[in-house]
Amino acid sequence: MSQQGYVATPPYSQAQLGMGGHPGGFGGPPSQPVYGHYGGPPQPFPIPPGGTQHGILGIHKGPVSAPSAMPQPPASSHYGSSVQQNGSYTQGFPPPPAASSSFGQVPQSPYQNIAPQATPSTHQLTNQISNMQISGYGQGPMPTPQSPSRSAPQQPFHSAPPHLMAQTPTAPGPQSPSMGSPLPLGGPPPMGGMMPAPMGGPAFHQLQGQGTPQGYPQPPAAGPYGGQLAGPQPGFPGSFPGGAAQMAGPPQKKLDPDSIPSTTQVIEDDQAKRGGQIYATNLRGQIPPLVTSNFTVQDQGNASPRFMRCTTYTFPCTSDLAKQCQVPLGTVIKPFATIPKNETPLYVVNHGETGPIRCNRCKAYMCPFMQFIDGGRRFQCAFCSCINEVPVFYFQHLDHMGRRMDLYERPELSLGSYEFIATLDYCKNNKPPNPPAYIFMIDVSYTNIKSGLVKLLCEELKTLLEKLPREEGVESSAVRVGFVTYNKILHFYNVKSALAQPQMMVVSDVAEMFVPLQDGFLVNYQESRAVIHNLLDQIPDMFADTNESETVFAPIIQAGVEAFKAAECSGKLFIFHSSIPTAEAPGKLKNRDDRKLFNTEKEKTLFQPLKGVYEQLCKDCVAQGCCVDLFLFPSQYLDLATMGDVPTHTGGSVYKYSNFQAEVDGTHFLNDLRKDVEKPIGFDAIMRVRTSTGFRATDFFGAIHMNNTTDVEMAAVDCDNALTVEFKHDDTLNEETGAFIQCALLYTTVGGQRRLRVHNLSLNCSSQLSELYKSCETDTLINFFAKSAYRAMLNQPLKNIREILVNQTAHMLACYRKNCASPSAASQLILPDAMKVFPVYMNSLMKTPAMVGSPEISTDERVLQRLCVMAMGVEETQVLLYPCLIPLQNMDVSSSVLPGAVRCSEERLSDNGMFLLENGRLLFLWLGQACPSELIQSLFNVPSFAHLPEELNSLPELDNPQSKKVHAIISAISERRTNRMKLLIVKQKDRPEILFRQHLVEDKGLHGGASYMDFLCYVHREVRQLLT
Ligand SMILES: [Zn+2]
Repeated sequence: MSQQGYVATPPYSQAQLGMGGHPGGFGGPPSQPVYGHYGGPPQPFPIPPGGTQHGILGIHKGPVSAPSAMPQPPASSHYGSSVQQNGSYTQGFPPPPAASSSFGQVPQSPYQNIAPQATPSTHQLTNQISNMQISGYGQGPMPTPQSPSRSAPQQPFHSAPPHLMAQTPTAPGPQSPSMGSPLPLGGPPPMGGMMPAPMGGPAFHQLQGQGTPQGYPQPPAAGPYGGQLAGPQPGFPGSFPGGAAQMAGPPQKKLDPDSIPSTTQVIEDDQAKRGGQIYATNLRGQIPPLVTSNFTVQDQGNASPRFMRCTTYTFPCTSDLAKQCQVPLGTVIKPFATIPKNETPLYVVNHGETGPIRCNRCKAYMCPFMQFIDGGRRFQCAFCSCINEVPVFYFQHLDHMGRRMDLYERPELSLGSYEFIATLDYCKNNKPPNPPAYIFMIDVSYTNIKSGLVKLLCEELKTLLEKLPREEGVESSAVRVGFVTYNKILHFYNVKSALAQPQMMVVSDVAEMFVPLQDGFLVNYQESRAVIHNLLDQIPDMFADTNESETVFAPIIQAGVEAFKAAECSGKLFIFHSSIPTAEAPGKLKNRDDRKLFNTEKEKTLFQPLKGVYEQLCKDCVAQGCCVDLFLFPSQYLDLATMGDVPTHTGGSVYKYSNFQAEVDGTHFLNDLRKDVEKPIGFDAIMRVRTSTGFRATDFFGAIHMNNTTDVEMAAVDCDNALTVEFKHDDTLNEETGAFIQCALLYTTVGGQRRLRVHNLSLNCSSQLSELYKSCETDTLINFFAKSAYRAMLNQPLKNIREILVNQTAHMLACYRKNCASPSAASQLILPDAMKVFPVYMNSLMKTPAMVGSPEISTDERVLQRLCVMAMGVEETQVLLYPCLIPLQNMDVSSSVLPGAVRCSEERLSDNGMFLLENGRLLFLWLGQACPSELIQSLFNVPSFAHLPEELNSLPELDNPQSKKVHAIISAISERRTNRMKLLIVKQKDRPEILFRQHLVEDKGLHGGASYMDFLCYVHREVRQLLT
């Protein structure tokens, strides 16, 4: 088992000490994965002097199993006069905004090329099944007994009731002694009905007969997707580690696909158990409901899971334990996450001229974890243990419990999340910031004119500009606006309110970009509305006859930065761009796409941005607080890896609409744009993650920029941006005191106020690995792995990354097996309850288009997915990697509840069915060939499936219960997603179906990658090897 991990040095951050990453660029890479994720050399860390480990916290002191619950804070009116309601979220915010366009633009190439590689490289995997024992999942008969006290110390071998995957290798029969013993539950006998019958073929997933759900007819082997179901399993293109030594094995067994852990079941169970309930954050190390469940958060001292989620809520006490289990310790932070209307928005605290109260030594902000002592005259820092004087104005007596009397009048003493008004010390040049500005930069070259984009956009802006984000309670937005059009040259517009007509100023020297006007370029929309509308009316006509097809790109970003500099503000550029910038100018690009590099050592170069001009632009943008949102309308390759570099280092988004046609794609684009413009957002942000002693943040993944190893800089951060942080030990953690994390984000509001947003979270610590495994959160873990793998793509061959992912999966499971599970036969695959669906997510991650080179998916499309995932939160990666598949054929039109989802496998489809599938970015409506005519009639107003038109672009809204129900389901799904999804309607056996089918993540990948079942077998084999 390799101890190797991987890491990619983020393009503009310093490599961290002891992390051996190698620089990006095109130089020859090391042939081996670099950097030991675990087991690397100890990293130097300055341990703050002084301070004791004991007695730091009265509130959270004591055994983990019975943390003293913080009493519920009183109603908000009890807050003192220094507190104001932060109204930013109280009302009027639009539905969650869009982040970017679909991954799955219809490929240009014919589908016939998709015949799978029938390499038998992992044929052997199928044999594993006979050595693997499966039971107890899904509809399985062995529910996990709930541990009475999640946090009570447990003995290593009797802690978590193992999930046995039971199946005797040869025949159904009495279970082996190890199987049933820890599961004294009622219900069907543990093995009942689970025993697969022997089957002849090498592909065990050719399921037939009992145990197979509604049969989805196997397509003929020679059909368009022939071989997808039959034949040996192709491995990943790079093949798994391990050889063909496992080819020989016992006879194949047929497995019930219901018997392997089911994501939909896990989601349903959590919703049933915790959905509709209030989740109060008063306990340390508390595991929140899943992201898929509906719950209401009540902040009682820890940040809401909407802001912070952890890979595990119990950290191991020592680095040795952490290395042993290889479970990454991390948190995913979404600092501006949207808060539902029924939850309390953040309070804003004003500590006056002195600014927020902080620890003198580590600079942590006042929070519920600080311990007041000495009659309230001093407080001990929960992060560094330093004892600080309480400023006179902040003094308060303590009650008999040692708590301040004003505890519940002060958000910073009783809540997990709140904001401080920042003083001038926190502002650039000690000056209060100006409100941010938005500049709309429109490529008016031939392509964008001809597609109808420019006209559509200019028309839309007239209404959209009315909805610029504003501070709560303020009449109009303080955000100023400016306009630039460009092709090879730039046109700036003076839209000062005093003008009768807008004025254009042309800059044709793009080498030394400057902004030709200051006064009148960035204006208040309300004041200049007439001039701006005049301009927006004129633009489409001005360029209607253009023949110019060349564009520049870097100079327009430079122009934006210069404009913000001149106006001394931060802000956002909205760039609407069509083509690879080939005009003579800084940042000129050329086509460097080469699909021959797919699945080779050099594949990574396709994902690497070009350095030089763009690297400098990133720095300039971040320094100025200039966020870049990029809307792309390409008809061919445009080097998205380089063009997307600035957006993804400035907290911006990238949207891509291939072969854009205003009539067809206009709605989707406008929906995205509206969401984006209206998004809650903060500018010129800098974030610091502080931790209590014993561990620290060592790595950061996201749409961020780092000039040093601790400060995360974001030109802007909006409600969808999420940052993933990894922690490592530098000392031993204390079970009694636990572990604290404080994330502090300094930023400028849309109204131009400088604020500090603080999120605090307390975790448990344990010397028992079983506690760690019990507290894991699969959805957060997979977010961590997705981001770390997607970043590693810049520096390492995908084959290495996939190997490392598999190895680490096996390692985590083997460690659990060895240290936490009851003794059992080696032939059983045992998964921790909290991670039982981790393998399906991991396998799905390795099959994503970014990770699997396929001639069908363009380089830009893969790059886009990589860029988008880097900024995703836990909800987004969850549904991306395990899409939601909803059967519609039997929907209850009278019910307001969404039909339950089914497993993402074609086993679940049926000829006479109709299904919705969504992954947060794409929404499919799949129609079976034998779909009932009545249903087709109700939804499409044609008599039957055969009458459906060739091209189905939209779902009409018809006046009948079925149509209304389907539209209601679609809008319910869309509401909960950050993106506006485009609906794609696919007919069974039609060519575009391939797009749909690649999201059936339990099946073998269309472009390589194992089925879920095969992957489990493979991992099981790896686990067994590790245990011998
Ligand atoms: Zn401190």
